[in-house]
Amino acid sequence: MVLATDEDIGTVIVIGAGVAGLAAARKLVQLGWKVTVLEGRDRIGGRVCTQGYKGVAIDLGASWIHGIEGNPLTEISAQLGLKHQPTSLEGSCFFDVNGKGLNAQASRSLIKRYQSLLSESSQTPVDADQSVESAVPWLSVSQPICESEQRYLTWIKAAFASYMGADVFHHSWAYLNDDKPFGGANHLLVDGYAPIVKFLAQGLNIQLGQVVKQVIYNREHVVVKTETAQFVADRVIVTLPLGVLQSGQVSFEPPLPASKQQAVQRLGMGLLNKIILCFPRCFWQPEIDFIGYVSDNSGDSPLLLNLLPHVGNPVLVAFLGGETARKSEKLQDRQLVKQVMSSLQRMYGKEIPQPTTTIVTRWGSDRFACGSYSFIPVGASGEDYDILATPVEKRLFFAGEATNREHPGTVHGALLSGIRAACQLT
Ligand SMILES: Cc1cc2nc3c(=O)[nH]c(=O)nc-3n(C[C@H](O)[C@H](O)[C@H](O)COP(=O)(O)OP(=O)(O)OC[C@H]3O[C@@H](n4cnc5c(N)ncnc54)[C@H](O)[C@@H]3O)c2cc1C
Repeated sequence: MVLATDEDIGTVIVIGAGVAGLAAARKLVQLGWKVTVLEGRDRIGGRVCTQGYKGVAIDLGASWIHGIEGNPLTEISAQLGLKHQPTSLEGSCFFDVNGKGLNAQASRSLIKRYQSLLSESSQTPVDADQSVESAVPWLSVSQPICESEQRYLTWIKAAFASYMGADVFHHSWAYLNDDKPFGGANHLLVDGYAPIVKFLAQGLNIQLGQVVKQVIYNREHVVVKTETAQFVADRVIVTLPLGVLQSGQVSFEPPLPASKQQAVQRLGMGLLNKIILCFPRCFWQPEIDFIGYVSDNSGDSPLLLNLLPHVGNPVLVAFLGGETARKSEKLQDRQLVKQVMSSLQRMYGKEIPQPTTTIVTRWGSDRFACGSYSFIPVGASGEDYDILATPVEKRLFFAGEATNREHPGTVHGALLSGIRAACQLT
């Protein structure tokens, strides 16, 4: 390990105890800095949040390691002896709106079309950027199409919104595949993400319940004002989520450079929410990974994750993404649960049991997140992530998933950004 020279070593405040903040703080401590982490919530982890239910770990935020090959999270999991298992859309059962199972060929073709959309590589010149919907001819059909084709399109769009957190009419076509994902399958952590967060936080000085309101910086030092206290340090690493930066809840004095402020406003904060249903018994195919529901209502969850093969308890997780998720945050939990239950009743019959416990997330209304993860809307570009990551005056440093152009929107992206920011201080 290379330690910074004595004159470089000083005090650092890290704002946010999510994965980026914890990774940054951990690295800085290793390098010899004196670090204080300020966290607004009464818990660490940020958009990683694992809740226990009957001895089972349920992730309300991130739950997958996206691409296990070369992913630093794979290595950390191995060190900690954590089990993770692959999931795949191929291991799904699809139903149409009437509750009739799709045959193998129809399911395969639907998955193929959806996956081909996600991996579409744009040839569009960047200055002619447009939305995914307007660029992909088969998504915006002008001539009449049959009802089943209409439903397939509705499903593909809803599944896209759940995966990207943004709708096909918002997401930039030119930058649809600007990131550099790791290879290999996506794996679910059997005991949830909590052990990784706990590991990253070990030995750190973390002050919970410190809601940062203002960051004042000059050539000598940085003052961070929270709702109840004031902290002074030589440098600060800001890991506030993009949505929080966009909301203006935290002010900077002097204001951040115009280029950074513009990049913050250009990028999009996407939304993915989960409706988690814990049942007294399994009434679906126990071994499948997902239940796909090809509805004619774009407000229905397109996919439900079956946690049973992974955690050993009959738990289903329904996903809502993009504008559907945003609208649904205004509904009450019982209305959202009822909507998922009515889809399940169509698929599995009226006599299915009611869930014994339900959890509904609202990441959009969460003032410490203001959304789920970033995306590139029309008019923004991958470079905006780099602009967000650029330090200011050698005093302010930035980390967080939305500062990682290669791995935005992910836990490993947050982790790597934290390590990068920590190394920029020396
Ligand atoms: C529902 C959902 C599902 C997801 N699924 C996956 C997945 O399966 N795999 C994957 O890789 N990624 C997934 N993600 C994305 C992943 O969770 C994030 O990219 C990652 O956790 C972001 O980490 P971060 O440190 O950048 O931000 P955060 O975790 O948001 O950390 C920022 C911290 O700053 C704190 N904070 C905010 N405002 C203030 C303030 N004013 N004062 C002090 N503290 C403040 C927050 O409380 C938070 O702790 C998912 C996210 C969501 C919401």
